[in-house]
Amino acid sequence: MAEYKNIMVYVETAEENPVKVGLEMLSPAKEHAEKVTAVVIGSGVADAAKKVAEAGADQVICVDSEDYKEYNLDAYATVLTQLVKDENPEAVFIGGTQDGKDIAPAVAAKLGVGCASDVLAVKAEDGEIVYTCPLYGGTVLEDVKIASTPQVATLRSGAFQKVENPSEGEVVAKEVKVPEDVIKAKITESVKEIAETINLEEAEVIVSGGRGMGSKENFALVEELANILGGVVGATRPAIEDGWVSKIHQVGQSGKIVAPKLYIACGISGATQHVSGIMNSGYIVAINKDEDAPIFDVANVGIVGDVMKVLPVMIEEIKKI
Ligand code: FAD
Repeated sequence: MAEYKNIMVYVETAEENPVKVGLEMLSPAKEHAEKVTAVVIGSGVADAAKKVAEAGADQVICVDSEDYKEYNLDAYATVLTQLVKDENPEAVFIGGTQDGKDIAPAVAAKLGVGCASDVLAVKAEDGEIVYTCPLYGGTVLEDVKIASTPQVATLRSGAFQKVENPSEGEVVAKEVKVPEDVIKAKITESVKEIAETINLEEAEVIVSGGRGMGSKENFALVEELANILGGVVGATRPAIEDGWVSKIHQVGQSGKIVAPKLYIACGISGATQHVSGIMNSGYIVAINKDEDAPIFDVANVGIVGDVMKVLPVMIEEIKKI
C-alpha cells in the first residue's frame, strides 16, 4: 500500500531530452505513490514528455510553449505551482540540478510549504515519507519529515535508479499562461558553448584535478586523460581559484554533485566539501603522493605517487588499448 495518492515529479529537459535525474526520480515516486504525475515545461518538448511517459510516469503533463523556450525562474515556478494546485499531489520531487535548486524553494515558498534539499534516500515511516539529507557537507545524514502538504524535495542526481521495466503512461498537453507582470527578470543572452560541452552531472567518466596538479600546464594531463577516456574534466575549488580551469568544472559541495561510473581524482586531498560531491560515483580511483590523504578512505583503488609520473604512464597505457 503506497503512502501517498499522488507524487508530482518535475522533469527538467536539456536539448529537448529529459535529464537523467528527472527519470531517476520516477522510481522513488512510484514506490511511494499510487500515481506519479510528471511535469515537463519548455518549448519543443513533446518528444521529451513521451520519453518520460515511457520511463514509467503514469501521466505526464506537458506544457509546451514558445513562452518557455528559455528557463526563467518566475515563469517556471509559476507554472509548476499552478499545476501543483490543480493536481493536489502530496509531494513534489524536483531534480537537484542548478535550475532544480533554483525552482524548488521558489515553488515551496509560493505554496507556503516545507522543502527538503539534496535528498539521498526516500523511505516510509508510519504512512509518511522520510527524506534522508546530508548535513555539514555530507559528514552527517539526517532524516527529515515535512509537516506540510504538499511537500517539496530536491533529489540528488545518481542517488536513485531509473524504473526497471516501466509501463508507458499517457501524455496530456496543457496550456498554462503566466501573466507578464510575474516575470521580474528576463534572460537577454545565454552562452551555450561551455554548458553544452561540459555536463558533469550526466557524465559516465570524470577525471578531476586538484591543487596537487601544480600548474595550469600540468593540468593538461587531466584533460588529456579525460579526453582519451571519453570523459569530462572536473576540478577542486583551489584548481579553479588558481585559474587552471573554469568554475563550471567544479565538483563538490559548492560545485556539481556527480555520479559517474568512474571518477579519477588526481592530486586531490579528499576534503569533505569535495568528497560529498562524488560519493555516488560507481568506482573511484585516486592518485596522491601522500599515502595518508583522506581521498584514499573513499577510493576503490589508490595509487600513491606523483601525478606527473603516474598520469603520463596511465595515458600511454590506455592509448594502447
Ligand atoms: P589540497 O587540499 O591542497 O590537496 C592537494 C593534494 O594534492 C594533497 O593531498 C597533496 O598530497 C596532493 N599532491 C600534491 N602534489 C602532488 C603530486 N605531485 N602528485 C600527487 N599528489 C600531489 N572544494 C571543492 O573541491 N569543491 C567544492 O565544492 C568546495 N566547496 C567548499 C565550500 C566551502 C563552504 C568551503 C569552506 C570549502 C569548499 N571547498 C570545496 C574547498 C575544500 O575545503 C578544500 O579546500 C579543497 O577541496 C581542497 O582541494 P585540493 O584537494 O585540490 O587541494
